[in-house]
Amino acid sequence: MGDCIVQLSEQVSNQIAAGEVVGRPASVVKELVENAVDACSTEITVLIKDAGRTLVQVIDNGKGMSADDAVMCFKRHATSKIYSAEDLLALVTKGFRGEALASISAIAHVELKTREQGAEMGVKIVVSGADKSETESVACAEGTSFSVKNLFYNVPARRNFLKSDRVELRHIIDEFQRIAMAHPSISFRLQNNGADLFNLKPGALRKRVVAIFGAKHDERLVPLGEETDVVKISGFVGKPSFALRSRGEQFLFVNGRYIRHHLMHKAIMKAYEGVLSPAHFPLYTVFLEVDPSKIDVNIHPTKIEAKFEEDQIIFALLRSAVKRALGRHNVAPSLDFDAELSISLDNVSSTSIISEPTIQVDSSYNPFHSSKKSSTRSSSPRISFGGGALVNSDLKDPTLGNTHGGWGNEGFNEIDATPSHVIEATQAPSFFQFEGKYIVTTISEGLIIINARRAHQRILYEGFLDAGLGNSVSKISQKLLFPEPVQMASVEAQRLLNASDILNLYGLELAQSYDGGVEVVAIPCGLAGKIQDCLDSVLEALNDGTWSDEEGRREKLAALWARTGSIPSKKILSEEEMSAMIGQLFACESPAVDPFGKKIYTVFTSKNLEENLR
Ligand code: ADP
Ligand code: MG
Repeated sequence: MGDCIVQLSEQVSNQIAAGEVVGRPASVVKELVENAVDACSTEITVLIKDAGRTLVQVIDNGKGMSADDAVMCFKRHATSKIYSAEDLLALVTKGFRGEALASISAIAHVELKTREQGAEMGVKIVVSGADKSETESVACAEGTSFSVKNLFYNVPARRNFLKSDRVELRHIIDEFQRIAMAHPSISFRLQNNGADLFNLKPGALRKRVVAIFGAKHDERLVPLGEETDVVKISGFVGKPSFALRSRGEQFLFVNGRYIRHHLMHKAIMKAYEGVLSPAHFPLYTVFLEVDPSKIDVNIHPTKIEAKFEEDQIIFALLRSAVKRALGRHNVAPSLDFDAELSISLDNVSSTSIISEPTIQVDSSYNPFHSSKKSSTRSSSPRISFGGGALVNSDLKDPTLGNTHGGWGNEGFNEIDATPSHVIEATQAPSFFQFEGKYIVTTISEGLIIINARRAHQRILYEGFLDAGLGNSVSKISQKLLFPEPVQMASVEAQRLLNASDILNLYGLELAQSYDGGVEVVAIPCGLAGKIQDCLDSVLEALNDGTWSDEEGRREKLAALWARTGSIPSKKILSEEEMSAMIGQLFACESPAVDPFGKKIYTVFTSKNLEENLR
């Protein structure tokens, strides 16, 4: 064979580059609007027709271009933003690769009109593919207007690949919002088919966020502010009660550029731990400012990813900044269990002797017992309850044995079926059960109503995590006397067996049975009576997106197993059991929500009651 390597024409290589930079109309909007921002504009208008298929036009009042630059700007690697590789280390502009206009003009009809600030006349040039018109002198406003028509006219496969107008418009709006949010001092306008979608006036960031997402957002935002040598953190995070079930309103900007960054996202989410379920997503608009030489944004053609040199430090700082902000604004739930209890003794006869409240629930007690906890929790809430409740000493056995710390189903003593809310007249009310589902008792602030099953799930969940679920099996696992075969489809059996190395660390030991199915050799404590449910949970977790992430997997399995192992919702509880459960709940790190984010208790203050009784 002879020589076969040829250099691609500029037109072809531009088309190839366009495949990376311009995926859809929204990418054109992003590139053009970023250029307008880089040109120091104070007003930017985006006009769209048919969700960008027919037209994307961006008009700015920035510095404009000379006639020569108007020709140059379409050339590949033509940029006014960097001159040398070192300049990459001090980037302050959005663009720097000099690829966008070359790429866009390779796959669309582009018309540019631009007039430099102070120049008498502007220039116009029309470019499509390799065809370039002569520059023409025109009268136009100062600044620049790019019209991009008939996107992908020469790449039918890409054109056909576009989604519905609704979807494409959604992408355009996303890109527009990201840039508008990062630059609140610039006016932005977006129109589709002649109708205004956004008309944003310059102002403070909070105003911009509210203008984009609606006035209801104002009360939902908690400001962030933290400045260190490594990073400056600003912006807003949302109050947990307004979190959504879907991700969406989450924005992270680094040096004014919107990026996606798994680790930083995780830092923010970690700060919400305990006040928000993993199934919910808080809104956030977080700005990080770092020394441009310590961040690399040149790792992806659309520059949506970035690499921080000091990512671990920034992770820690970001997480604590968000945590502090939530705490400062009193968003995390707080209950005062220290104050004295005010139990109404109205129905106690004046002659009866009332003993001092004596029961102290050991709030540091946890069924899974971890010495770390009892020491760090010396300041955790202590609840003292009046009345005749006694803490059953069995329940205080901190070893994780077959009674599962007293709360596994199999650990329950047979409970007297007398409804426990029939309270002797001479006895001060302490705990009673309502509808077999709720525990009702009093605390200093008023009446607290606790969903017992959810409380139990929280206790088991933290117990699993504290006992080293996913790391060390010694405290979690319980060997079965005889391996127990489980019936299931062979694909499912195979999936479980494939994961068996990992599952071993979770105290679940599986083996292949003689017929190719699964048999269970050891199981996490408390789940022995629920083998099938336990394996179903594992299959559910395997299907969950979090499986590949070690921490996500641990939390998911702990949550599912806590659900599997928890008491049924109509379980009748003795006073001792209720008392112990409350003690354990409030010894938990996050007593307010169950592992799935549902609220565990509610408090009726005397003010609430008075209002209701008015
Ligand atoms: P980059 O933004 O990476 O430099 P582009 O292809 O997006 O590459 O733009 C090429 C050059 O064209 C820019 O560096 C800039 O000098 C010029 N340019 C593009 N858009 C504008 C605009 N709206 N106003 C002024 N100059 C512009
Ligand atoms: Mg650019």
